[in-house]
Amino acid sequence: MDLKERYYHKIRTDKMRLTKSRKAMIEILENQHLTFKEIQKALAARGFYNVSTIYNNLEFLVEQKIVVEIYINDTKYYDLAMGNPMHSADSHIHIMNKDTNEITEVNSPEIFDFLSNHQAFKHLDLEYIRIIISAQNKKK
Ligand SMILES: [Zn+2]
Repeated sequence: MDLKERYYHKIRTDKMRLTKSRKAMIEILENQHLTFKEIQKALAARGFYNVSTIYNNLEFLVEQKIVVEIYINDTKYYDLAMGNPMHSADSHIHIMNKDTNEITEVNSPEIFDFLSNHQAFKHLDLEYIRIIISAQNKKK
């Protein structure tokens, strides 16, 4: 099953409605981190114009932990969570490249292992670990 199919499967098995606009939203978010405006634009290109439906669907997908909200430099981005090898809904590392405005992910579970086993958190149940790294290309 490819990634998108797994999302669809989750929605179906949870007896939730897999509407066309929810499906389109998942397709649009695959491999991208988008703002609400960007999602709106991409959906409009596919014929989905209703802003409150978009808003409700996003809220729904976030509740289901299929989509996560991430804040980078005060901007909110949406990102697929479930089945994303780079991060779970709760724990992820994102890098914002200020030269290209690109957001990428780091796939490094050992960083989470290291942090969650750290002495400082010994008495705590960690809810999530979210790391945002701001960077620029190295100038030579
Ligand atoms: Zn991400």
